[in-house]
Amino acid sequence: MKTVTVIGSGTMGNGICHVFAQNGFNVHMMDINQGALDKAMGTIGKNMDRQVAKGTLTQEDKDASVGRIKTFTDMAEAVKDVQLVVEAATENVDLKLNIFRQLDQHCNADCILASNTSSISITKIASVTKRPGKVIGMHFMNPVPVIKLVEIINGYATDASVTETITELSKAIGKIPCSANDYPGFVANRILMPMINEAIITLQEGVASVEAIDSIMKLGMAHPMGPLQLADFIGLDTCLSILNVLHNGIGNPKYAPATLLVNMVQAGYLGAKSGEGFYKYTPGSKDIVVSERLAHIK
Ligand code: NAD
Repeated sequence: MKTVTVIGSGTMGNGICHVFAQNGFNVHMMDINQGALDKAMGTIGKNMDRQVAKGTLTQEDKDASVGRIKTFTDMAEAVKDVQLVVEAATENVDLKLNIFRQLDQHCNADCILASNTSSISITKIASVTKRPGKVIGMHFMNPVPVIKLVEIINGYATDASVTETITELSKAIGKIPCSANDYPGFVANRILMPMINEAIITLQEGVASVEAIDSIMKLGMAHPMGPLQLADFIGLDTCLSILNVLHNGIGNPKYAPATLLVNMVQAGYLGAKSGEGFYKYTPGSKDIVVSERLAHIK
């Protein structure tokens, strides 16, 4: 495998392109939005500059890596003759099913189709293609160039040989693959999201303040970030949509999203990306303060 196509160049897509390019692959980065592609190239350049400044990448390797990335807005051109596509477009079932129908039409018969979905069933995505054995989940974590894990999700029909190929490929790009089967939330989000939800319920019941909940989990459990700050970083809308997948898919009321989370998302307080969630963020600054809307919970 020499060339990989990545569909979607947002937060995850640009990180996935970065990692493949840095590890010697030619990358076709495709997005429907030219502005998103331009922004992604800028982000990849800046992130690689940071690696150069730290001494973990040479300037020469940076230039060669960036040179291996080509951008496309046309899917048929982007996937021509490639053996792997990694889809990292917006988390929306209908949109992803549509993308996979098109990929199935345009890609060579032996091409593996992987999705970076956080929560949509790989079996369902595979079912709209004529190659369900070649469809697999390749769930990278944010920020992709930094986090080592790739959660590999086997759909009901995924061929064992495809799992093996993607496992080896993940190692070849410096990642540590861990395999899971296709159940709602897979492993990472099935365990992480109930913890975040419980932290929000703990806050909503007034058990402790935002700072106390995050400090207790950071200091007591050696987590690098408290669950409320992590929720802000992931995006509260994303957390809500994953909890809905767990709740609807497994049917156990323990996964019901916290009312406070639902209210915050409805009000447009989505965390770092909207400027405010549990904390308030100032562009260009690393300093954060607890949102004054929650400051009454001492
Ligand atoms: P994002 O909103 O930052 O980027 C999505 C990109 O997809 C946008 O640039 C958009 O223009 C593009 N897009 C939309 N429709 C498209 C189409 N038909 N063809 C090509 N491109 C299209 O989203 P993101 O946070 O990068 O998430 C992408 C995927 O990764 C989702 O499935 C998400 O669940 C998953 N994921 C996200 C995270 C995270 O922390 N953000 C972590 C793991 C997995």
